[in-house]
Amino acid sequence: MELELNISPLALEGVEQKRPLVIAGPCAAETEEQVMDTAHQLANNGIKIFRAGVWKPRTKPGCFEGKGREALPWLQRVKAETGMLVATEVATPDHVEAALEAGIDILWIGARTSANPFSVQAIADSLRGADVPVFVKNPVNPDIELWTGALLRLNNAGITRLGAIHRGFSSVDSKLYRNPPMWHLPIELKRRFPSMPIITDPSHMGGRRDLIAPISQQAMDLGFDGLMIESHCNPDCAWSDAKQQVLPEVLDFILDRLVVRDSIEVTESISQLRKQIDDIDNHLMEILTKRMRISREIAQYKKLHNMTVVQTTRYSEILDKRGAQGVLCGMNADFVKKVYEAIHSESVRQQVEIINN
Ligand code: PEP
Ligand code: MN
Repeated sequence: MELELNISPLALEGVEQKRPLVIAGPCAAETEEQVMDTAHQLANNGIKIFRAGVWKPRTKPGCFEGKGREALPWLQRVKAETGMLVATEVATPDHVEAALEAGIDILWIGARTSANPFSVQAIADSLRGADVPVFVKNPVNPDIELWTGALLRLNNAGITRLGAIHRGFSSVDSKLYRNPPMWHLPIELKRRFPSMPIITDPSHMGGRRDLIAPISQQAMDLGFDGLMIESHCNPDCAWSDAKQQVLPEVLDFILDRLVVRDSIEVTESISQLRKQIDDIDNHLMEILTKRMRISREIAQYKKLHNMTVVQTTRYSEILDKRGAQGVLCGMNADFVKKVYEAIHSESVRQQVEIINN
């Protein structure tokens, strides 16, 4: 498969070409008042690109699924009154047609949609001949090929003003993030397509207001190009994603304090490598959490069958197997033994607690 993308500059009218490129606005367009109030506040703080979901992909039916076409004139009003460019999510050819007809400046494809090649192809076909910038969010699952594939489909349809949005990936075991960043994936995308802008969405990644600032800083430290952040005039009462939206003035505070470093080759400085280590440590903690959870499930079984917690043959098997594997991977056998002794002892402690409960 051809892995080349034909990228042209986003060339966004009235938006300076500098890092970070910021797109801000509510998760969803709820009412005309909410849209206009939020938009005016953001524009007064210097935001140049306004986002609002018109069609909202929700996991279950019965939640607020967006106002649909009815909300498009509100975005037109934002454009007319504030001069900001407006962006919205499209998930079907119908959405594309309506959004283009309404003069929406920037489209993005959401994480659930970019996971589906049929949907992406249908959107790409409907975009043929349109000269509109399109951002592709990473698919919900951590699959860089699927993300690449979606970009290729749009590119093959003639869309060259392309960008990617990194919003993190679904994970069953994450305690900290709503969607863990797995930074190595957007870093790999950047390696594949160096001229394509990649922006970070700390709102959907963190799922919490207090994570927006640290994730945004990490995105800047890693050299990503911009940020898409959810901001709402009354976040606590938002109809979707209330916990992760911030007031426009809070967004202003966060952006003001952001340290924007010069973009440099991703893996060539120690701080970039350290960020990768941090990312891997996050993974390690998630994996350990998962292992302990399974170990607690085993304790329930042992309790039910009146078994002892420590089964020495099983313990020796683990130490031998992982010790040998460690040596093959270039690690010291003693070190691997110590790691497994420590893991085993915590697991035994948790199992004893359950058996006696
Ligand atoms: C959104 O941007 O509001 C959204 C639905 O995001 P995602 O597709 O990343 O879940
Ligand atoms: Mn949202």
